Amino acid sequence: SCTFTSCLLIGLTQKYPPVKFLSEKDRKRILITGGAGFVGSHLTDKLMMDGHEVTVVDNFFTGRKRNVEHWIGHENFELINHDVVEPLYIEVDQIYHLASPASPPNYMYNPIKTLKTNTIGTLNMLGLAKRVGARLLLASTSEVYGGKGRAPHPVLCEDSNKVNVTVRSVFQEGVEVRVARIFNTFGSRMHMNDGRVVSNFILQALQGEPLTVYGTGSQTRAFQYVSDLVNGLVALMNSNISSPVNLGNPEEHTILEFAQMIKSLVVSRSHIQFLPEAQDDPQRRRPDIRKAKMLLGWEPVVPLEEGLNKTIQYFSKELEHQANNQYI
Ligand code: NAD
Ligand code: UDP
Ligand code: UDP
Repeated sequence: SCTFTSCLLIGLTQKYPPVKFLSEKDRKRILITGGAGFVGSHLTDKLMMDGHEVTVVDNFFTGRKRNVEHWIGHENFELINHDVVEPLYIEVDQIYHLASPASPPNYMYNPIKTLKTNTIGTLNMLGLAKRVGARLLLASTSEVYGGKGRAPHPVLCEDSNKVNVTVRSVFQEGVEVRVARIFNTFGSRMHMNDGRVVSNFILQALQGEPLTVYGTGSQTRAFQYVSDLVNGLVALMNSNISSPVNLGNPEEHTILEFAQMIKSLVVSRSHIQFLPEAQDDPQRRRPDIRKAKMLLGWEPVVPLEEGLNKTIQYFSKELEHQANNQYI
């Protein structure tokens, strides 16, 4: 305990979020590629607060320094501006490999570069993992299950798809690999302009613009809050499961329901506008998370409304920030 004055002084000099103390033997050196992005920056927060040493490697294609700026200067933290397509020589115990353009406008911006990131970049990180004996977790996506007409069933379990050949074959070379199949995720630090449904609807509702529903809005998605995903990624990394594991929230809603929910949480007068259906839009998507539940003891715990409220708060601050900075 401290006196009022010393508490105040500690409060004023406390530059960083609180960090747990870990003994040398429990503290790990962890690399997060894409750590300045949406998911990666939340993962950085968790691993830093848990007391680990975190190195973020990012080329700032879609990531931002601002997402991790609260750690800059901390003795356990390092931020490296580096493209994973180039080899990387550092010493680490674990690698979370998240670096990849994630949304359609971003991965279509330069398809060749996207391919290089996903192939050469992953190969480099596997090479690094092999050299230093680190375990690597690969961020894969529910997209591997296919879109309209290709998904065998809307409730998707890990077997309903192709095998990740690169990872499988390198695994045989003795690299320990974990594969997360990430389903739709939302939360603070999502990109404002990448056209995802949650960010679009929240921004539209906050700005009094119409909420743009593509098609009839009867297509479904199931959204997990980013803190749930991050807990799942850490549980998977520290497990002994080398086959792919779905991480997502099975609570399924229609897109029209999302529009109505967001409109009412923002208390917005925006109306809903129906636009033409998006091309190849999967009609249903919902993860089967029995494997994660059974083997990791993991399941999402953040209620949709709570996650949406936090995200709405974030975007509303971002809009304010933009408005305050537009004349600088
Ligand atoms: P994001 O765009 O916010 O993060 C990706 C990060 O990787 C960015 O910081 C970007 O600058 C960085 N990056 C891209 N190319 C790079 C390169 N060549 N070298 C170094 N850094 C590079 O996206 P996100 O939503 O945080 O996604 C993270 C991972 O999770 C991605 O691999 C994505 O495919 C996967 N994923 C995300 C979702 C989702 O709903 N957000 C769903 C499925 C899968
Ligand atoms: N690599 C890397 N960092 C390392 C070790 C390897 O970036 O610490 C890269 C290396 O440049 C190569 C790739 O990973 O392009 C695969 O390495 P590996 O040793 O598996 O294959 P090789 O170099 O024998 O082709
Ligand atoms: N969508 C929509 N309006 C928007 C953005 C997206 O109706 O402004 C729909 C889109 O057609 C899809 C769903 O919302 O059916 C989810 O889209 P998103 O791009 O967020 O994720 P993904 O299609 O990759 O699941």
